[in-house]
Amino acid sequence: KVDRSTVVKAYMELKADGLVESFVGKGTVVLPQLTKDMEFDKIYTPKIHWNQMINQDTDLEHHDLIAKIMEATQYRKIISFAGGIPASNTYPIEIFKNIQNQCMDKYKEKLFMPTSIYGCMELRNSIKNHLESRGINAATKEIMITSGSQQGIYYFAKLFIEAGDVVLMEEPTYLGAIEIFKAAKGKVIGVPIDKEGIKTDVLENLLLRYRPKFIYLQSSFQNPSGVTLSMKRRKELLKLAYFYQIPILEDDGYGEINFSENRLPSLKALDKSDYVVYLGTFSKALSLGMRIGWVAANEFIINKFSKFKQITDFHSNTMTQYMLSEFLNGGYYQQHIKKIIEEYKSKRDLMCTEILKYKVDGLQFSIPEGGYFLWCKLPENVRLTILMNQAIKEGVMFMPPDPFYCNGSIGDTYIRLNYTYPTREEIKKGVKALMEAIKKSRIT
Ligand code: PMP
Repeated sequence: KVDRSTVVKAYMELKADGLVESFVGKGTVVLPQLTKDMEFDKIYTPKIHWNQMINQDTDLEHHDLIAKIMEATQYRKIISFAGGIPASNTYPIEIFKNIQNQCMDKYKEKLFMPTSIYGCMELRNSIKNHLESRGINAATKEIMITSGSQQGIYYFAKLFIEAGDVVLMEEPTYLGAIEIFKAAKGKVIGVPIDKEGIKTDVLENLLLRYRPKFIYLQSSFQNPSGVTLSMKRRKELLKLAYFYQIPILEDDGYGEINFSENRLPSLKALDKSDYVVYLGTFSKALSLGMRIGWVAANEFIINKFSKFKQITDFHSNTMTQYMLSEFLNGGYYQQHIKKIIEEYKSKRDLMCTEILKYKVDGLQFSIPEGGYFLWCKLPENVRLTILMNQAIKEGVMFMPPDPFYCNGSIGDTYIRLNYTYPTREEIKKGVKALMEAIKKSRIT
């Protein structure tokens, strides 16, 4: 009697040698044996089955939804409140024209050469000074340049997560982070938030129960809810982190977009013992396309990250790094931030006023003190699936809530609206269309 595994192994070997081929529903057939000795243009070329060859574990849960939204907004005349990028009219084009010329004269061939894996020294120093003005004391060697903060989240996941490890994160939170942690085979557990950010009492229970590898959170104007962690909670959170010895990954991409007078110190600035790994980016306050972000953390983490950087993209784009360094050193970044804060604050106000104008019963939102988004609670009798189709018909698009939750589905509760990218005209038209769509999506 032949063992089953021997047969399977034999089939696998025959397949690997190109002697047999398996077809779903048809079984395995012997292939015509011709390749080696035949002329190239007469050979039999079996269809390649990519899907059967690749690692089966590469799908991202919300990929299709996001692709659909991007497509709808790209190719159709549709107003998008779905994205999360800076307004097109904010880019400091003239300043960068000059800076680029200056950099060519100043750095010459250096601009075309590789930088260190950690990023160019000039930019690391400029970021060091920038962070100092925000109360964060990090030495240059504790700063590494990344291709966006997305890369920082990815490296952190690679460094910490082994299959089945628990990650605690606010809920709702940045969908990209959820997907990265899940792709790394982490078990993501959501911690509820309220107006003061992550609920530290619930967090403590979950820390006790799961002993997670780390806590990921956005401390200010978080995506999608716009909520900022209060000072009291910042301290409570750090105390918990020290007590249970759990590191914190602080994603502070929206921190600069602050409409209020009051600026809270980041967790990294409050941290007394290197528990916080801090992620910053130019994507939200300046340009997503530049793909430049940074990590501020102790040297151990930075050195570990540099190994991943080496096997992913060696270093981030050289020219962009030098130009950003000049942009920071010349004081242009600070000026730019002031400008965009004014712009986005007025757009936030416009969106809120417009929504309120239509007096849609049961539609609720709180006014964010910064960041990019309004997180709107839908009236109870509105069905999200109907609303999504209706909104596209009316010519407007938003982000549905599911991707922002660790376990996907939360039903018909919230939508996320971006006010930075659409023009004022689009905000007015888009809100009108959306309010119309909401009214039409009620079930009675
Ligand atoms: N974190 C958060 C919270 C975000 O919203 C985003 C962008 N949508 C990122 C990280 C990634 O940004 P980037 O890589 O462009 O810096």
